[in-house]
Amino acid sequence: MASSIPQSFHEVVASLEIQAFIDLVNRLGSQPCPAPPWDSDRTYRVSPVGEGYPVIERLAGGTWEKAGLEPPPLTLAAARKLVGEFLVTRPLYSPLRLVASPVADRKFLLPPIIRRPCSDCREDTNWQAEERGGGWAAGFIAAAWKCLQCGGCKFAVWIDIEQVAEDDESVEPEPAEPLSKVAALAERVRKVKEAKEPPRAETYELTKVGQWEPWSIRPDAALEKELEATDRALYRKALMNMSQGYGLGALAYFRRVVENETGRLLDVVAELAKDEGDEGLLAELEKAKKGHNADERLRLAANATPASLKIGGVNPLKTIHSITSGGVHNGDEAACMGLATELRAAFEYVFRHVRDVTGQRAELRRVLTKRRAQSKPDV
Ligand SMILES: [Zn+2]
Repeated sequence: MASSIPQSFHEVVASLEIQAFIDLVNRLGSQPCPAPPWDSDRTYRVSPVGEGYPVIERLAGGTWEKAGLEPPPLTLAAARKLVGEFLVTRPLYSPLRLVASPVADRKFLLPPIIRRPCSDCREDTNWQAEERGGGWAAGFIAAAWKCLQCGGCKFAVWIDIEQVAEDDESVEPEPAEPLSKVAALAERVRKVKEAKEPPRAETYELTKVGQWEPWSIRPDAALEKELEATDRALYRKALMNMSQGYGLGALAYFRRVVENETGRLLDVVAELAKDEGDEGLLAELEKAKKGHNADERLRLAANATPASLKIGGVNPLKTIHSITSGGVHNGDEAACMGLATELRAAFEYVFRHVRDVTGQRAELRRVLTKRRAQSKPDV
């Protein structure tokens, strides 16, 4: 496998100490290396260094410099944003690992405001932290947020936040033999010195261990009505897998649902195009529906997406197509969980958004027509 240059930054990093790879880079000289996702605009290469390991370099201001192998630490604001999304969208026991600027107390990683759907308000609202890190229950942080719109609904989580030690998960090993007095003193001096230079970044691992309201394994009621009976069952299986932290299983079930339901998905999108009176898009969507498999139908539809369906330039149909047409992801549970979460969000968004928009428009039309009728001159 190591007879060719790896395809991703992570693969190159993983190969740096493999002899066949070292030989290859030494033989071929510097090779282009894919840029990591956190620095995707820069040019990277992997260079031989005599008898040592090859190094990864990046082009900065016209010269090559040694590149970091890990993403730079997140700012506190960015970390909180990520944690907020994690708390809202992820099921229990699916961990989130992040590298952030160190915080004095782990509970500071919890965001003061989160955004999530409220069952009373029946829409996405802002929720304010009430008892952020308000207490420790069995070693976990208990935190709660309150819906700012209705003031009545609460969202509570019990969360485990571990600080992951630099050189792999474990804590500092105990010395095998008791230290001599001098050695013990030297060790203490070393520790004090270390403590004076605070680390630039810390790795934290967060796991939700409890949640109220519970993470539901039932799809949204409106969506459930749209799905075929078999797909409804598959959808529940996907959510069940998610709730137990099985990313691979969840992704597999969601992909099957999307494949089966592609026709309905395109019908829903066509409804929006029709409502907007866009004949051109409607014709293209009709063409997409005739594609000879789900993959082709989704690909064509992604190019005929009404602008109003896109969120901040992101096209949910493109997301759905790229996740369902991607290969199987090396059996990595965490990566699959991420993809399953994204796929579910994009799929549900399309249904919900179109229902909301067409519903609101119909309501507006009804009110306006009524008003026009009432304001006839003879009334
Ligand atoms: Zn509310």
